[in-house]
Amino acid sequence: MDVCELSPGYVRAIAPYQPGKPISELERELGLREVIKLASNENPLGPSPRALAAVREALPELARYPDGNGFELKRTLSRKLGVTMDQVVLGNGSNDVLELVARVFLAPGLCAVYSQHAFAVYPLAVQAIGAQGIEVPARDYGHDLEAMLDAIEEHTRLVFIANPNNPTGTLVSPPQLLAFLRRVPPTVVVVLDEAYYEYLPQDMKSHSETWIGEFPNLVVTRTFSKVYGLAALRVGYALASPRVADLMNRLRQPFNVNTLGQVAAVAALEDTEFVAKSVALNRAGMIQITAGLMELDLAFIPSYGNFVCFRVGNADGVYQKLLRKGVIVRPVTSYGLPEHLRVSVGLESENARFLTALREVLAE
Ligand code: PMP
Repeated sequence: MDVCELSPGYVRAIAPYQPGKPISELERELGLREVIKLASNENPLGPSPRALAAVREALPELARYPDGNGFELKRTLSRKLGVTMDQVVLGNGSNDVLELVARVFLAPGLCAVYSQHAFAVYPLAVQAIGAQGIEVPARDYGHDLEAMLDAIEEHTRLVFIANPNNPTGTLVSPPQLLAFLRRVPPTVVVVLDEAYYEYLPQDMKSHSETWIGEFPNLVVTRTFSKVYGLAALRVGYALASPRVADLMNRLRQPFNVNTLGQVAAVAALEDTEFVAKSVALNRAGMIQITAGLMELDLAFIPSYGNFVCFRVGNADGVYQKLLRKGVIVRPVTSYGLPEHLRVSVGLESENARFLTALREVLAE
């Protein structure tokens, strides 16, 4: 007999997450050099210099287990955000905390609502538990909150909102979100995924950390992988009511955030100069890329993140040709966008190289 058939059908039905192609892989496959990767919404400036220094200093500690409670990082986050330490759950990337919320509230027979074109980890996390995902059609590529409310039924326990959404970059404004939260039944938990929060203009920031006191059914997730430039170290966190945070903590691995990640995250939070520089670079890069796309007559989805989705028709063909020119972007067919590609905002020189390569590919 096939041993894999012993695994539940819902596990065997999972389509694996497709990460951006690593630079080393493309260099190996095509014998290319000087490949640029604009495929995973990373910070093109790298990590904050303060975070790097903290990592170097912590290296001799590698033989010891990490602080399983993440005391320093939770304390720094709680001071910065004005929450209590028992409202913070740390994760191995925000991916980890997204899975923890799913495991806390879902089981076979229950369901979760998310939007079409929303971040791919939501269906994965739901399916891994044998729960059911309800995908609500998007409106103008973004979340249709009315339709998402309508999709809530007796067995719904979770609603996932990515704000801004990846890969579309669409945003729900703070007043719209607040109105939505007031209408969601208290028996349904809203997971507000704010992985790109720091890139938002001030007037579009929800300050959702102040909402968790008012809404016990709200879980906010954020990450150190994007503006803080620490994607490789895998650190993210959730903000929730102390009782929900407690349940999530019971399910997590005892040492789910490594020592280097913890010290780097503390240092990165304090490096406000680096964050401001990263946000400014992203704004300028977004203008550079979208202006270039307009020159090429390519439609794009206006984005609040550090990436933008543009329409090229034969997306896979263009993706492959860009690879041959040493430029990695991200296909988004698995997000229901077979005619689009997503490009992350890079350094000015990387954005320019991407636009030149794209112009050449389209002229071929
Ligand atoms: N949420 C969204 C919307 C994302 O785009 C990502 C990263 N692609 C994540 C969560 C997870 O990131 P991480 O696990 O690195 O925190």
